[in-house]
Amino acid sequence: MSEKIKRVCLDPGHDAGNEANKSPDGSYYEHEFTLDMARRLEKLLTDRGVAVTLTRTGGEAVSLAKRCEIANSIPDLDLFVSIHSNAAGGSGWSDARGWSVYIYGPGGDRQRAAEDLLQQVRAAGIAVRSTPIVYDPELYVLRHTVAPAVLTENGFHTNREEAALLGKASYRQKLAEAEARGILEYLGIPWSEPPGEETPYQEEADAAVAWLVGLGVLRGNAQGDLMLDQPVTRRQLAVILYRLAQRYGAV
Ligand SMILES: [Zn+2]
Repeated sequence: MSEKIKRVCLDPGHDAGNEANKSPDGSYYEHEFTLDMARRLEKLLTDRGVAVTLTRTGGEAVSLAKRCEIANSIPDLDLFVSIHSNAAGGSGWSDARGWSVYIYGPGGDRQRAAEDLLQQVRAAGIAVRSTPIVYDPELYVLRHTVAPAVLTENGFHTNREEAALLGKASYRQKLAEAEARGILEYLGIPWSEPPGEETPYQEEADAAVAWLVGLGVLRGNAQGDLMLDQPVTRRQLAVILYRLAQRYGAV
């Protein structure tokens, strides 16, 4: 793999204290979906060597400003992906349906990322809105992130059929796989099948590096070069272990 590792920040929308964003029958909560989708995407991307950072990892409330701060603190972040599901109408069911992606405005890397996502979502047979790429300069996380940013609206939880689909693990995995393919396309990383029996060590090493970079434990030199084939001194090893222990609250 290239030593210039690609970095993606996933932003699961809302938090466990959010009661408003749910299906009219209360069977589906957007905050639960967004975190589960982020975890699925994290696995698909990390397995393919991408360093992933999540803006929240549990039900805790994280302000929009904090989410942007997390993203903006990641050096050379390649893409920020905020994950949501959509709503329409009042408190009842609505006919509005379909996947869409929001970006700040047309053009540039964010447009390319949105198009790569859209193409893969369409290819997976997922229903998309008639205008699937929406420009919205008002959305906070699109406005205040430095890296190219997209916000996915993964269908309407106010649509009876889509709410049922969004609640299903199999549909979530299909969505996550389509979006992971789109993100990898954008990053210029070929889609590869999960680690096989023949090359367990290399795949595991790629995943391990991506995980450690995502945690901020492995940082490379001042130029961001991870120097993966260079030997490590005992002092560097101690720092790596210390950062890992810190990350898990052991020191
Ligand atoms: Zn939302």
